[in-house]
Amino acid sequence: MRKKEKILFAATECTPFFSTGGLGDVIGSLPQAIKNLKKTVIDIRVILPLHSLIKTEYKDSLKKLLSTTCLLSWRSVQYSIYSLKKDGVVYYFIENGYYYDRPSLYGEYDDGERYAFFCKAVIDAMEKLDFYPDVFHAHDWQTALSVVYLKSKYKDDPRYSSIKTVFTIHNIAFQGIYDMGILGDVFELGWEDQSIVEYSGCINLMKGAIQVCDLLSTVSPTYAEEIKTPEYAFGLEHIINLNSYKLVGILNGIDYTEYDPADEACIKYPFNSENIENKKACKAAFKELAGLDASADSPIFSVVSRLTSQKGIDLILSKLAQIINLGNHVVILGTGDKMFEEALEAVEPYYRGKLKVFLKFDKELAKQIYACSDFFLMPSKTEPCGLAQMIALRYGTVPIVRETGGLYDSVKDFGCGESGCGFTFREYSGDDLYWSVMRADDLYQNKDEFNEFIKKIMKIDYSWTSSAKVYYNEYKRLLAN
Ligand code: ADP
Repeated sequence: MRKKEKILFAATECTPFFSTGGLGDVIGSLPQAIKNLKKTVIDIRVILPLHSLIKTEYKDSLKKLLSTTCLLSWRSVQYSIYSLKKDGVVYYFIENGYYYDRPSLYGEYDDGERYAFFCKAVIDAMEKLDFYPDVFHAHDWQTALSVVYLKSKYKDDPRYSSIKTVFTIHNIAFQGIYDMGILGDVFELGWEDQSIVEYSGCINLMKGAIQVCDLLSTVSPTYAEEIKTPEYAFGLEHIINLNSYKLVGILNGIDYTEYDPADEACIKYPFNSENIENKKACKAAFKELAGLDASADSPIFSVVSRLTSQKGIDLILSKLAQIINLGNHVVILGTGDKMFEEALEAVEPYYRGKLKVFLKFDKELAKQIYACSDFFLMPSKTEPCGLAQMIALRYGTVPIVRETGGLYDSVKDFGCGESGCGFTFREYSGDDLYWSVMRADDLYQNKDEFNEFIKKIMKIDYSWTSSAKVYYNEYKRLLAN
């Protein structure tokens, strides 16, 4: 019988257990997509911290495997491993109440220590579970230290030394930067490994993983090029360029069963590319729910996003009045920077019936918004990949995006002919966004053309299948060397 190929993902969020955005979606769908390529041969597992925010339905079905301790520098930390099997993928959860019973996944004063412990526990768990993967795939700075450990402290241990490591950058803006003074105390690294993580006089965990991993990937081909430049690399362009020989950009996909307007409890009027009549029913129902003026045939422009400047929220705010004054309706769902939340809250009453703002994280509401909207605004300043524009396409909502990163790779302009599936603009400028909105309004006025366009964009395939194959081929290539 052919030997099983063992793959272990390490990450700090995963849909549907707990998630703050795109990373959670990717970890919640890519492993299954890889597994589905060769069910009997691929043994893929995912290891996560057991955040107390895990949904109750999943918490109740966790199985406790063992309790143990592991060292993090001078700390002897107790932890337990729980597990759950879902759609053919085994999920392990590292439980420690002190580190992971918190109100949020990130932004705690001791994130460095919380995730350093997770990285150490991941290595420890391989031994305790007797599961040494062929490929270890870590995601973003929170898990970078586990790659560094494998290539430093554990490199001469025969149980770990043959493990191939993949490190994926989902967003280079977040690097895990800490004071050099806590190198030994918190990150359990000695002077001999200092140079791996040291960058610009600080500990930079992402830089460490970039330097030592066997394969470096990021989430779109364009972002892979962008992060070689100072404009996009948040200071790491030099390190990216040095390691570009092992860098690949692989476009993310979305889970087409998780996002399916034809088959979801929260979509009252299911629809598909053959029959979009129910999309209009969704729109009418949503207008009522959101208190939008039902008398006018106005297009709905929506935003479902973290409210940060990376996402271009400042551009949207700068043109909000003009967009609404064109006769459009705007719906915004998001959480994020206080200044954006407060600005949106303050402006909403001035546009009663035309603007609806929801300041919360709500997956079902998000799906209803994707389903009911005509256009989706995503004028990001930087966008490693972006999933929201792909979800919008899936729900027949025309994306309006800035040409950057994965947005450039996944949305071609209406004027491009057959491949066109949205409206795009190049400069990070409110005027260019507004110009795209006006072009969208023109299309909306021509009902037949607009309806045909919606049917066309709904047929575009951004499911995981092709990207999962690329990842798998990269794993095979690593294992062949
Ligand atoms: P990022 O990961 O940078 O936040 P992505 O576009 O890659 O951006 O992924 C964002 C994901 O999070 C999408 O699935 C989007 O629908 C979802 N999302 C963002 N904000 C909210 C919210 N407030 N409520 C529900 N889902 C949200």
